[in-house]
Amino acid sequence: MNFDEQILQQNYQTVVNQLTTYNEQYNKNTALLAVSKTKPATMIAHLVGLGQQHFGENYLQEALEKMATLQELPITWHYIGSIQRNKTKDIAKHFDWVHTLEREIIATRLNEQRAGLPPLNVLIQVNIDDEASKSGCQPDELPKLVSYILTCPNLALRGLMVIPSKAGGDAFARTQALFEQIKQSHNPPHWDSLSMGMSGDMPLAVEHGSTMVRVGTAIFGERHYA
Ligand SMILES: *Cc1c(COP(=O)(O)O)cnc(C)c1O
Repeated sequence: MNFDEQILQQNYQTVVNQLTTYNEQYNKNTALLAVSKTKPATMIAHLVGLGQQHFGENYLQEALEKMATLQELPITWHYIGSIQRNKTKDIAKHFDWVHTLEREIIATRLNEQRAGLPPLNVLIQVNIDDEASKSGCQPDELPKLVSYILTCPNLALRGLMVIPSKAGGDAFARTQALFEQIKQSHNPPHWDSLSMGMSGDMPLAVEHGSTMVRVGTAIFGERHYA
């Protein structure tokens, strides 16, 4: 598959420059997660050449194919899609991070299937807007899920992930508060990450302590689903 290297490079540089500006403004060190779902391995390889390390994928089969193609490159792979029970084995074996853990049963399976490898970095996806239709753990169920994950030796619980339903609300502030609450109540040993913010709300996310913003379209262009 072909793409325009110059456009990709320009888009990437624009996003990196924006993030750098916000990081300087708020004195933070938020990282960029390049969301590469539906985009070819050749584009990912090009971005690695420009210095990008972290890539996010939503579709397991597609991700596994790209990983095989790109196995020689220094890439940290993040799973950011919804997790079906029968997909946990490949996720546990092939990814470095999972952002979308929301249930005990999935934690149990990932923990078992990660055995023999370094601990899998996990974030709990929180349903911060408390909508019945959205995925994520309810905020009031979070302490129990945290306690459970902390008993899983093959999972390193790093923090929280959110997809707020509307931009500009106070969802980021509430997520930041939840993050601090769990730090106080449970003091998880590796608790240092907040996956929060996308291209439209980067400054607000950086301001509220996001450690990873997830950006797809602004880097790779529009997605075309087969
Ligand atoms: C696809 C996706 C993104 C990137 O969205 P864009 O609008 O393309 O930047 C970010 N986060 C998650 C969880 C996604 O699934």
